[in-house]
Amino acid sequence: MTSASPVFDFAVRAIACINCGAPQRVPPGGGTVECGHCRSALVIEPRRVESTRSEPAPLPASAYDLEAFLRSTGCEGKPWSETLPVFRAAWNEARRQPGVEGGYRLYGATAMLATGHGAQGDQLARRAVLETAVELLPDRGHRCILRCHLARAANRLGEREAALAWLGQCDATGLAEVVADEIRVTKASLANAAGHHARVLELVPPAQQATGASASLGAQLRIDSLESLGRDDEARQELEIAIERHGREVVLGWMAVNELGPRSRAAFTTVHTTASPRSSAPMTVAIVLVLLALAGGVAIWVLAAIN
Ligand SMILES: [Zn+2]
Repeated sequence: MTSASPVFDFAVRAIACINCGAPQRVPPGGGTVECGHCRSALVIEPRRVESTRSEPAPLPASAYDLEAFLRSTGCEGKPWSETLPVFRAAWNEARRQPGVEGGYRLYGATAMLATGHGAQGDQLARRAVLETAVELLPDRGHRCILRCHLARAANRLGEREAALAWLGQCDATGLAEVVADEIRVTKASLANAAGHHARVLELVPPAQQATGASASLGAQLRIDSLESLGRDDEARQELEIAIERHGREVVLGWMAVNELGPRSRAAFTTVHTTASPRSSAPMTVAIVLVLLALAGGVAIWVLAAIN
């Protein structure tokens, strides 16, 4: 992908075909577009501008709980090859009724399906399901969190301008705190990638104070930024706390995926291998799952953990 055609460019739109699901580039003003895959005629509405949308009552924090959604599908810990068809079916159904349960099912199915596409390296499909849902979801908080996914995905591809544009559409005013947490961690992710490490420490609270679904990613970013600032002792302390709170395999596995905090990870592994040989022994099931996830394999822990 060249910088001339970023996958996540905010100035263009990508929508999933309502018939076959293939991602389609469509004009911001909408119109009739022929699906390049199944040849269906797609009637696309103009892009919806955030400031003109009606505002339903704010939702409780539970409306944003992706882990609960994942559990409800029975797909936790299964390979993407098995779960993607399940998420695709749930998504297809939910996009036709985006207002059901305040949009929770569309939101959950979107996060899972998009993450699955990302794990398989299909960035345009990932974008299209996220953007399609952003345009359909009635709740501003759901839209914010999915835009954060778009921003982080763009950031990970080095598309910083696109990442900032998606993030710029997020406003958590008056919504559950978890939405603001997600935005802060996403800002921290962009700051970390840009080398603004002191800013990361301002945005994300220390591991022992962090809450919510984005706490694990926030901790990973802090550890990496502390390390980049030469504050290795603090980085190691925070890594110990993060592991205690979120689990060793989750934290170390995702830090490896996100290439964060290499010195702290190495130090942790050395210390804990010496002190307790059993803890480094054989591959536990969880470690195997992380390694499969590295290879784009497993629908677990993925939701707020991807940098
Ligand atoms: Zn199609």
